[in-house]
Amino acid sequence: MKIMKEDNKEWVYWTDKVTQEVKKRVENSPILKKTVKERGYIVYDEKTPSGKIHIGSARGWVIHDCIAKSMRQAGMNARFILSSDDMDPFDAIPKNLDQEKYKKYLGKPMIHVPSPVEGYKHYGDYYFRQCTDKFGEIGIEAELESTAKRYINGDFNKTIKIALDNADKIQGIYKKIYGKSVGSEKLPFNPICEKCGSIGTTVAYEWDSEKEIIKYRCVPGLVDWAEGCGFEGEISPYNGNGKLPWKVEWAAKWPTVGVVYESAGKDHFTLGGSRSISVAIACEVFNYLPPYPSTCENIGKGYEFFLVGGKKMSTSKGLGSGFVDMFDILPAYMLRFLMVKSRPETAIDFTPEGNTLPLLFNEFERVEKVYFGLEDADDRTRQNAKRIYELSSISEAPKKKPFRVSFEFASMIAQILPDENIVERAEEILAKIGQIDRKLTDSEKNNLEEILKYANMWAKNFAPENYRIQVIESISEDIINKLSSQQKESIMSLGNFLEKERKDKEIWAEINKLSEHFSIKPQEIFEAAYLVLLGKEKGPRLIPFIQSLDRDFVVEKFTLKNKESEIKIAETDDVINKKELNQQKITIQLENNVSIKEEKMMNENEMTKKLFYEDPYQKEFEAKVIEIQDTKVVLDRTCFYPEGGGQVGDSGEINGIKVINTIKEGAEIVKVNGQEIPSGGKVFHVLEFTPNFSSGDTVKSSIDWDRRYRTMKLHSASHIMEYFLFQIFGEMERLGTNVDNKKDRSDYGSQEKLNPEKLVEVEKLCNDFISKSKEIRTYPSTSNENIRVWECDNIKMFCGGTHVKNTSEIGKIRLKRENKGAGKERVETYLVESN
Ligand SMILES: [Zn+2]
Ligand SMILES: [Zn+2]
Repeated sequence: MKIMKEDNKEWVYWTDKVTQEVKKRVENSPILKKTVKERGYIVYDEKTPSGKIHIGSARGWVIHDCIAKSMRQAGMNARFILSSDDMDPFDAIPKNLDQEKYKKYLGKPMIHVPSPVEGYKHYGDYYFRQCTDKFGEIGIEAELESTAKRYINGDFNKTIKIALDNADKIQGIYKKIYGKSVGSEKLPFNPICEKCGSIGTTVAYEWDSEKEIIKYRCVPGLVDWAEGCGFEGEISPYNGNGKLPWKVEWAAKWPTVGVVYESAGKDHFTLGGSRSISVAIACEVFNYLPPYPSTCENIGKGYEFFLVGGKKMSTSKGLGSGFVDMFDILPAYMLRFLMVKSRPETAIDFTPEGNTLPLLFNEFERVEKVYFGLEDADDRTRQNAKRIYELSSISEAPKKKPFRVSFEFASMIAQILPDENIVERAEEILAKIGQIDRKLTDSEKNNLEEILKYANMWAKNFAPENYRIQVIESISEDIINKLSSQQKESIMSLGNFLEKERKDKEIWAEINKLSEHFSIKPQEIFEAAYLVLLGKEKGPRLIPFIQSLDRDFVVEKFTLKNKESEIKIAETDDVINKKELNQQKITIQLENNVSIKEEKMMNENEMTKKLFYEDPYQKEFEAKVIEIQDTKVVLDRTCFYPEGGGQVGDSGEINGIKVINTIKEGAEIVKVNGQEIPSGGKVFHVLEFTPNFSSGDTVKSSIDWDRRYRTMKLHSASHIMEYFLFQIFGEMERLGTNVDNKKDRSDYGSQEKLNPEKLVEVEKLCNDFISKSKEIRTYPSTSNENIRVWECDNIKMFCGGTHVKNTSEIGKIRLKRENKGAGKERVETYLVESN
């Protein structure tokens, strides 16, 4: 690994870097200087409250909040303003609302649509406040605004006049950037129809700049989600009589509000996307330097997505990916931490299944320990941890490290103790194992209760089998028969050893000794212990687990004598009783060293070389085994693409053992020589069985090529599909994509239902383009080698998936639309087999 030159430079956290750059920019611009003097440094973000708000938007709010906080910490007078775009038309009725009742409001501005629940000013107010009511909990300090109110107060009057006076110039900008004109008779303004109240169906066609009157029509059939009434009228465009189209409005807000920083999701920052239009309008029409990260020359980069994945999340109705839903899965401080620690250019791919939650909690704890100087770290790690911890803290960072129990301890307790009085009983156990030597304060009790609640939720819904804990009462013949003679011998010896009180290290040493003595792997001893205690081959980390159980109970189990036939324990189906029984067996000695494995994982420098980027067509390879965790194998190089970026993980074979999936786990930011690499995670090959090879062995592997090749074709096709989809329907918010060997499905936030005829047109454009045998190139981005670019003809985007080299390999494709409801449209792409 190269030693980066920056090592010598003074280290600056990214939000502080942005802060410095914004300050410099303001100092160099007389207009901005004056604006800032009058109003402060305005960090601005906005959201259309058209329904339940996705967690992706909240990522933006946290980023903006962190920038404003960093500015204030640097002594700048910064304000974070979040505006609700409640003048936008109501264009889709969420599925859960009364369709008949709401139908008549389609097309009207959201401020004129009633709230679904009493106690809110209007529809937009309801959905906006569902989120903003949580701001205190998650530590977002924002001044909340209504965009409609600004229209009504006349704040936009000046920019409305400028926009209308420069309508031709704005048309020219659209034409230059989109390569086509957008309704040549249209003026950049949508009045509210005086007859029917709709703002979504009106077209302004004449502007009298002297009288300041606009002529408009309310056009039937203009959009398919609302009816136009046919009315023609004339009206002043000021004081809330209508609104600017959103890309013009975006640009108009900057000088109107005095914005110096506003980022947005990366989908807005695509070539020819909405940000480029708004930046051009701000520069050429409003004469205002667009907010950071944009300049008139370069629009800069937006932040990455917050993706929420996993089976549970997509199938269960109870758990969703809305901002508010996330509070069911993570406590507010952890949700904030997750967003703060992930740099904006890193996608957050959050899947609550598996060990995501324990890893996240452990990572938080490590950052906290480094912050309080309780754990060694190099300078840069320490500085980084300091900023992450400060910006993650809900109000101010605490003066001393708060008392915390580990997530694993909490999940073990949550599974073993009955729900009744769980906090008090957990506290008793903590005292017993020497974790506390005093009564917990009320706020500490609240924290304990909180983590137990989330650990319980996780254990019930998302925990992998090996985290599920249910101690068995007796050992069946079946279990005895599964053990080899060496396993029996070593377990019985271990039982003898445990008759005395032992420290963790002594148990480790003993297991190693037994493994040598009986010539079996330590892993086999672990397996035997799990079988005897839990009736299955896996469990929580063995030594803390053994230490947490009553010693006499473990010793007795390890004699292998308490079989069903010899000892009768009253069987009961009553779960609570079983829990009680378990609880009695637990005297618990759970030290906080449970995260050794994770720490090792985070600190390790070796990364798997990704052969699939060098040559996506390579099917076979030899590699060295770096690590084995049960059935999961890490190699020093691999052709297996790990699940991510919407693409399925590869399957195949390693040394003849089936690879059922390939996944990535671990931190999103990996540190190499003190340098943060925002890719991260280890590539795990998930085998069907525990492998018979070991770390250090060289293995032969091959991927399931047919499956991968079809996936490559479909992945490439999906980018082409999206390009033409946006050409025909306009740009839409990307909500998620998923591609495997059968189909690609891409979800978009769409204000209108995708017209099937137009989709046929998209399909035709795609197939024409594909048939022209265009070359496809993929390469690392110049700004960050961990981000990859996909390029074909004039289509260009960031994608880390695997793709074919030429469109001719794709063949013909077929598109299918699905309406997922609530403003969500799905487009599926299929390969048309030519046989
Ligand atoms: Zn009308
Ligand atoms: Zn791709």
